[in-house]
Amino acid sequence: MPPAKSITIIGGGLAGLTLGIGLRQRGVPVTIWEAGRYPRHRVCGEFISGNGPAVLGRLELLERFEQAGAVYARSVMFVRGASRSPVRRLSAPALCLSRHEMDALLAGSFQQLGGELLVNARWTSGESREGVVRAAGRRLQTAEKTPRWFGVKAHVSSASQLNLDADLEMHVSPSGYVGINRINGGEVNVCGLFRPREGNRQPGSKPDWLRGETGSLLRERLGAVEFEADSFCSVAGLQLKPQRASAKEECCIGDALTMTPPVTGNGMSMAFESAELAVEPLAAYSQGRLNWTETQQQIAQRCDVAFARRLVWARFLQWMMISPALQGRFGSLLLRSNWLWQLMFRRTR
Ligand SMILES: Cc1cc2nc3c(=O)[nH]c(=O)nc-3n(C[C@H](O)[C@H](O)[C@H](O)COP(=O)(O)OP(=O)(O)OC[C@H]3O[C@@H](n4cnc5c(N)ncnc54)[C@H](O)[C@@H]3O)c2cc1C
Repeated sequence: MPPAKSITIIGGGLAGLTLGIGLRQRGVPVTIWEAGRYPRHRVCGEFISGNGPAVLGRLELLERFEQAGAVYARSVMFVRGASRSPVRRLSAPALCLSRHEMDALLAGSFQQLGGELLVNARWTSGESREGVVRAAGRRLQTAEKTPRWFGVKAHVSSASQLNLDADLEMHVSPSGYVGINRINGGEVNVCGLFRPREGNRQPGSKPDWLRGETGSLLRERLGAVEFEADSFCSVAGLQLKPQRASAKEECCIGDALTMTPPVTGNGMSMAFESAELAVEPLAAYSQGRLNWTETQQQIAQRCDVAFARRLVWARFLQWMMISPALQGRFGSLLLRSNWLWQLMFRRTR
């Protein structure tokens, strides 16, 4: 038997670490290059919904998440201006765990399985190479294109500071949206995605973006709370246009492949799913049963089949959430439509 070929993964976020774990479970030699270190906060709603929990279960990670204190969200409410949706039950519970704990937990699991994790190690080559998978996260817009989205996240130390009607409250405005949900340790995640609008007076600071406009329910919820200073993080210039894996030169998974609008709460699930979809072809490559071109093609094809439809619906949902055309009466009608909510929930995951 020839020796197993090793795999290099660029990026030790959710996709990279999950892939590393899946490959180590099959005995494949793996090295992950991670530009940062653990633990660290990330801009994220920390709300895993869709197929994510099932993938974690298959990789024997779900129990670890639960032991780390992950809590389940079972209900959701949308708020837009003066209109509120009814509190709705999620058809499957979502798993909520701080990225501070989540990424460190996955990094530890990968190392326990014998994976090599290089921290503070940035991969600098932009070339596509055999045996190398890019899991380096979201692509940022470099050119001055519009719209320019940016995200902000912070934690509130105790849920008792807030009076929430649902496990996840999603507050929508024409500038974007803010999600509020309970996470592990009795803390609350507050995370928003925004698009500064020309001619409008913009909030001066990150906490002000999260707290929302005067008079809104969001402001009522968050006006007096204290955010944990060290949990603040932000990211600018997000690229939300869907991408196809088969159009990429490199082998990519997670956000490096494509980003879904955060309102779906499905990005982390897509990171776990794309990692799982890549395990089998990469293990076959490592054992010499597939060449690199075949491996890359198989991964791309599996990801495109899994994600193409949900990305189209996710784009439509993102537009619906922020479109000025859907403000006012029509907007509040949509908010109350159970049929529309069920359709969007099903189709975006
Ligand atoms: C505002 C906002 C809210 C969100 N809320 C949710 C939510 O509630 N639920 C949900 O499911 N998803 C949510 N998401 C999406 C989710 O955060 C991502 O889909 C998920 O983190 C993708 O995982 P990833 O591993 O692909 O990328 P990341 O988690 O970003 O990991 C990429 C890693 O690669 C490293 N890296 C980058 N470049 C290099 C390099 N050159 N060399 C070495 N390492 C490198 C980075 O340091 C990082 O650790 C949200 C996103 C945003 C912006």
